[in-house]
Amino acid sequence: MNQSRRVTRVIRGQATSDGAGVKLLRVIGTSQLPALDPFLMLDEFRSDQAGDYIAGFPDHPHRGFETVTYMLAGKMRHHDNQGNSGLLEAGSVQWMTAGRGIVHSEMPEQENGLMWGFQLWVNLPARNKMMAPRYQDIPPSAVPEVAITGGTVRVLAGSLGGVTGPVQGIVTEPLYLDVRLQGGAEFSTAVSAGHHAFAYVYQGAVEIGGRILQRGELAVLEEGDRVDAVAGEEASAFILVAARPLHEPVARYGPFVMNTQAEIHQAFADYREGRF
Ligand code: FE
Repeated sequence: MNQSRRVTRVIRGQATSDGAGVKLLRVIGTSQLPALDPFLMLDEFRSDQAGDYIAGFPDHPHRGFETVTYMLAGKMRHHDNQGNSGLLEAGSVQWMTAGRGIVHSEMPEQENGLMWGFQLWVNLPARNKMMAPRYQDIPPSAVPEVAITGGTVRVLAGSLGGVTGPVQGIVTEPLYLDVRLQGGAEFSTAVSAGHHAFAYVYQGAVEIGGRILQRGELAVLEEGDRVDAVAGEEASAFILVAARPLHEPVARYGPFVMNTQAEIHQAFADYREGRF
């Protein structure tokens, strides 16, 4: 195959709030795009108004999937009921495999200034849903930056050319790139055939797969083994994310994502009775 992926749909993020009242833009996980197997949710949070983010995400549980936080600006403190704690700084990524269950908080560690980043939810297959919780906390300095003509690409997961990102051992074999281009610069990369893929433009405007996407727009990319992009006149940036779809039934309720309704009821019971 040598096929550049085209755009099947363009989705605009919807303003909403979550946690204790954090304002954000939900891009995957809305009525327009409930999921893109194995991706269950994509939120962009971006504000320099403390009131939009300061309440953070106090203690809440997760079971059955992975949460991926990528920070562009600001600081977020992470804490959980297994004794783990970490500070997510600008440029860092945290890939948290909730597995059978954790209870954690994600709280801003700043009282003013810009807080900007993404949270992506990635599903786990039935056989991995009850695995032990696991973290990959990657500091900014451990994320390789690949220089291309007219730009830079940060490789969070998967690989670009011969450079492999620091997030390892994820069952859906994800690719997660942060592509930053000068005006008019071109970018092209291999994306595994059969994997589901999307691009989300977070700065400027980018032509991807034959469509021009503005800031705040996500393109669902159809089958192919390559993605080609060209920045608009201004400096532009987007995340390109792909992973192997699971093709399994999804039973979902809030922070629990399982295969059946009975497993959801079990998750509630386990959480209530302190088995997380
Ligand atoms: Fe969480």
